[in-house]
Amino acid sequence: MNTSLETGPTTGLSKEYLLALPKAELHCHLGGCVPTEMAARLAKSHGVEIPESAVRHGGRYRFANFDEGLIVLNAVTSSMQTARDFEEVTYESLKVAASGGVRYREHYFDPQNHPKLSYPEMLKGILAGAQAAEDEVGVVSRIVPAINRELGGEAAVELVREIIRHPHEYVVGIGLDSDEKAGRPSEFVAAYDLAREAGLKLSAHAGEHGNPDEVEEALDLLKVDRLDHGYAALEDAELSSRLAASQLPVAACWFVDYPAWEVPGRIRDHKAMAAAGWNFTINSDDPALIGPELHDCYFDAATQMGWTVDDAERYSLAGLEGSFADSPTKDRLRAEFEAELERIRPLA
Ligand SMILES: [Zn+2]
Repeated sequence: MNTSLETGPTTGLSKEYLLALPKAELHCHLGGCVPTEMAARLAKSHGVEIPESAVRHGGRYRFANFDEGLIVLNAVTSSMQTARDFEEVTYESLKVAASGGVRYREHYFDPQNHPKLSYPEMLKGILAGAQAAEDEVGVVSRIVPAINRELGGEAAVELVREIIRHPHEYVVGIGLDSDEKAGRPSEFVAAYDLAREAGLKLSAHAGEHGNPDEVEEALDLLKVDRLDHGYAALEDAELSSRLAASQLPVAACWFVDYPAWEVPGRIRDHKAMAAAGWNFTINSDDPALIGPELHDCYFDAATQMGWTVDDAERYSLAGLEGSFADSPTKDRLRAEFEAELERIRPLA
């Protein structure tokens, strides 16, 4: 990938070490994990139109800005129409991630974006793909159905009711995603109250493009257990201090909006989050759609932020600690991560 942005500090850590580093990914959308060839094939088989230019560009998606990217993402997700499609996307994506050191991943997916398939059918497909990947390469994954904020608060309540009607131990929480401009966190209080009462963990996208007060709404009204992106909170010193004091996990995305624009800005944001003392983790967001896998994010973060071995180990474990996995799963994975971190130290 393009490393022309390597203008900051450098790291002495080897790529071999960073690749082997055990990673937990908390912010990754299943619809953004579909390779272009698979997207084109699924779209053709279901008669969905994806702009030819978006999926036929040397194996990479092509779009000019965030809004266009969202259009492409929506077209790709519309191409996932059967349980088998969900299984294939989940399995393939987890295998690719595992080859870059991902040992645990939570997948966001938007059930409302797949109106032709019931929620239990989608779940069946994702679970089958997750189980096959876990059996084959040992990667553990969990599911966080996300509310499409563009569809409003009432539809969100309906979705949460459907999630609660079909509980599964691998469905560990709910999220709120899609276009931040279309729905403030305050519209989704009822849906979040319902989910919390049902024992689901809560995350929400806020402050990727919006204002600090949207982050405040996610904290105070939705009472999230984890925040996605959150960058706008850097503009408000009091809110930024609050995030640092609470150590609320913030699932940030290193290459968000990559490749076309804003990358230097986002890297600056990560440095500012680190300087402010936030408990943030590094994630890929939409690896197939945007380009870099999680290990690419780690390579660049290590270089840009001048990581030491201690830093790399801290980010590795922070991902796991911020996860919504249950305690026995987290305890088991923590022991595995710590043993692996010890084992690979000579590679650093
Ligand atoms: Zn996201």
